[in-house]
Amino acid sequence: MQTIMGVLITHNHIDHIRGLELLTRKNALPAFTTRKIWKSILTPKKKIPTDSVREIPLMKKFNLAGFDIEAFPVCHDAPETIGFHICAGGKKITIATDLGHICETAAPYIKAANLLVIESNYDEQMLANGNYPYFLKARIRSDHGHLGNHQTSAFLAENISEDLSIICLAHLSKNNNNPGIVLQTLERTFSEKGIILNGKQRISILNRNTPTEMILLAD
Ligand SMILES: [Zn+2]
Ligand SMILES: [Zn+2]
Repeated sequence: MQTIMGVLITHNHIDHIRGLELLTRKNALPAFTTRKIWKSILTPKKKIPTDSVREIPLMKKFNLAGFDIEAFPVCHDAPETIGFHICAGGKKITIATDLGHICETAAPYIKAANLLVIESNYDEQMLANGNYPYFLKARIRSDHGHLGNHQTSAFLAENISEDLSIICLAHLSKNNNNPGIVLQTLERTFSEKGIILNGKQRISILNRNTPTEMILLAD
């Protein structure tokens, strides 16, 4: 905990802020997000110390612990949702989970990454055949829901560059996805597009329940 300098919050959905109260109250950590997102988080029930509430602008860099960080908007069904573009030492990291599609504003941040953490939330067929109610299926599939495996794979196949060295596929649905099927979809999409992964890119599927190991971005 002593090495953590701050928390970046993408939106107010419970799977993203469940631990925020504990983190800020117990460890006095500053937490960073936009005014609009803070407004949606700070209800009378949520007791976040005022010192921890740090407002950040959209699409304007701020510095935290030697990292230049920029929040960019993504399309999702929360009052506002953001991704993060983080730069240090000439390396760029983009984190984008919880987005129904990759809009024109978000795309450049995603394309510019050396290390990309991107959502691959659901397998289209598993979602269709699963037992979620219709409205929930429609919400997930919508432009303001989540990215499906085919959507993420197609975007990566179209935009993969030499500069992108590590791809982390994240925010997998517990009920409508699994790591095997994510990888299979990605490999199939890449081979259909004639893209051969020659060991230059490292692909990781991030586990839902365990922390991700340290990733080193080599020169
Ligand atoms: Zn989420
Ligand atoms: Zn969400």
